[in-house]
Amino acid sequence: MGKRKDFLRTIVEEDIKSGECKEVVTRFPPEPNGFPHIGHAKSIAINFGIARDYNGHCNLRMDDTNPTKEDTKYVEALKDAVEWLGFTWKNDVCFTSDYFPKIYDYAIELIKMGKAYVDSLPEDEIREYRGTVTEAGKRSKYAARSVEENLDLFERMKNGEFKDGEHILRAKIDMSAANMKMRDPLMYRIRHAEHFRTGNEWAVYPMYDFAHCLSDYIEGVSHSICTLEFENNRDIYNWVLETLGLTPERPYQHEFARLGINYTVMSKRKLLELVEGGQVDGWDDPRLPTIAGYKRRGYTPESILAFCDSVGIAKANSMVDVSQLEFCIRDDLNPKVPRVMCVLDPLKITLVNYEGNEEIETSYYPHDVPKEGSRKLPFSSEIYIERDDFMQNPPKDYFRLTPEQSVRLKGAYIITCKEVIKDASGNVIEIKAEYSKESKSGSDTSGIKVKSAIHWVDANAAIKVEVRLYDRLFSVEIPEGVADLNANSLTVIKDAYIEPAVINEKPDERFQFERQGYFYADPIDYTDAKPVFNKIVGLKGSWDKKKTKTETVPKTRAKKEQVDGEVVAMSDAQTALFTKYTQELKLNSEVANTLARDSQLSAFYEEALSEINSPVSLANIVTNEVARELKQMQISELKFSTSQISQLVKIIDDGTISNKIAKQVFEEMVKSGENPNKIVEDKGLIQISDPVIISAIIDEVMAKNPDNVEKFKAGNIKLLGFFVGQVLKSTGGKANPQVVNQLVAQKLK
Ligand code: ATP
Ligand code: MG
Repeated sequence: MGKRKDFLRTIVEEDIKSGECKEVVTRFPPEPNGFPHIGHAKSIAINFGIARDYNGHCNLRMDDTNPTKEDTKYVEALKDAVEWLGFTWKNDVCFTSDYFPKIYDYAIELIKMGKAYVDSLPEDEIREYRGTVTEAGKRSKYAARSVEENLDLFERMKNGEFKDGEHILRAKIDMSAANMKMRDPLMYRIRHAEHFRTGNEWAVYPMYDFAHCLSDYIEGVSHSICTLEFENNRDIYNWVLETLGLTPERPYQHEFARLGINYTVMSKRKLLELVEGGQVDGWDDPRLPTIAGYKRRGYTPESILAFCDSVGIAKANSMVDVSQLEFCIRDDLNPKVPRVMCVLDPLKITLVNYEGNEEIETSYYPHDVPKEGSRKLPFSSEIYIERDDFMQNPPKDYFRLTPEQSVRLKGAYIITCKEVIKDASGNVIEIKAEYSKESKSGSDTSGIKVKSAIHWVDANAAIKVEVRLYDRLFSVEIPEGVADLNANSLTVIKDAYIEPAVINEKPDERFQFERQGYFYADPIDYTDAKPVFNKIVGLKGSWDKKKTKTETVPKTRAKKEQVDGEVVAMSDAQTALFTKYTQELKLNSEVANTLARDSQLSAFYEEALSEINSPVSLANIVTNEVARELKQMQISELKFSTSQISQLVKIIDDGTISNKIAKQVFEEMVKSGENPNKIVEDKGLIQISDPVIISAIIDEVMAKNPDNVEKFKAGNIKLLGFFVGQVLKSTGGKANPQVVNQLVAQKLK
């Protein structure tokens, strides 16, 4: 292996050395109630990876003890994911449901030993009797039932003679145990539901704590590796196996930290919500952190495994920056894939002095990629370039095509703008240019100096393709749910133009589109008649910068912008604006930078500012919301006015609506041009700040989530966020987050 050893491998090696472990057997035990996500990939990499490294084997086991949520389509997705990541399981896929008869027999054994009893307390009393972290629990009076009575009741539970929840089988351990999980944990519950494999054969189903350790034992697992939230369950795991005398050669549980990534959610329940709510296009939507999603987007299994490896295996939960994953996919694709040219937003160039056509032989790979292969680039007098590679009134240090500045068409000739043609409303629709015959790439004797080379395609030979650009699914770093979705996570470009070799020669499925990023031929929608490409990832991200440490921008100074890898400084006028924004108006440097560099945005901002004196709130709306619209149109085309934006800021500032709702109102303004006050009134979006109303909602949420209330009270303070999120959700984002936070904290104390 050669690499640093993680703590799990250290344990495994010790167990082999001491002779305690004869064969390393692990298992990956998902519940088939959703598609696997990248957190599961980490678990797969660990369990299958350890088995492989120590010549053992890993079972793929479906933990199917909850009949109401499971389905074979999830089983298939789980198998796909493991195989796609390059692992194989020994024997057939295992199912906990295959062990139901054995697990049932073990339960009978515990009853006969006096170590388990049928309890008939209602659910809320069971909870009450459990006590708290500081108070011991109280045992149910039913714990005194005789072995015979317990056996009889349990058999009748199994046969379906009772209703759900009427009785429950509990282990008899210790109602005053410091570990609350040990206070007579639940082992079997009644569930009248059809199971996707066992049908209606069983009316009782084992709980995780009982089924998991026994399934591990039955399969001969040596190392049962799970995530940290099961730490307190380890005592039950051991108790069950030891009480039943299933020793030695028994499995031991070890815990590691869950993987979390920012800007996404990572629980099957939340993912299911997005899928069922139609916010995404199925479980394999390329924006989802599911394995199926990454696969469809174009990620490689190698990149996912490299990412899991780079995250490491730790004992403390942490949040990983999504840019780390993006780094891994770039790093994997960079030495592998062909470079080709595709224009996403075409601007036509007519070369007035070029006649006929030619084909330019060009390598698919740059010099530093040790791969061979080339294609012919068609070239004629009609070319498309990217619209933003031309500017009529460029800022200083814009290095691409302008009326005064020539540019090189990558791999071909240098061109010079001669005439700018516009439509009636002033949009540039075509450039008439001249090419320099002597400037051909590789044999340039023209002596013309250019500052950059841009990508292009031949307008006549290029093929129209659809390109799907993906952005983060959520716009906040730690999203709570649907309200935090990024409205612009998907952009579909229907008429991008790509060089013909990509479609006709198909040199690969993954490409680097020069200067744009890495792309993948969509495995489902792509046809030769209608090619579709998914953007996998852009060319450079913040993680690369972190790694190479080239970026050393002091926070207080104007941030530099990069164009074609060149740093672009601010003009004097822009610097003056930046200084005014940061020093007088107290905007942060990021926001000030965005405004100062964009004359349309700053013009909009200044005008709105003359109507409302709230520089910071206004700047936030302008640089986020308004900026997005101005990317697609001119100020004059916007449906909303500066005074409507200042009205919007006003009702945010005075607490009428929350920031979250403001986004919703803005979306409406974009569509209808309606006044924000009217939208708020019509849709009933006024923020709820009344503590009485919010209290009532919190009470409802607490009543619905007694387990989490208990967990919180037992010390899991991370659940504060959960409760706040639930309350916000149940008010459609209308509750005042500050009030909610305060009240939730008070109530949970
Ligand atoms: P979710 O909360 O997403 O539904 P889960 O833990 O309920 O996840 P299971 O299907 O029960 O999902 O998990 C299968 C295995 O994958 C378990 O061993 C679990 O610990 C592991 N696993 C699940 N999520 C993560 C994660 N984010 N990071 C690492 N391992 C994970
Ligand atoms: Mg689960």
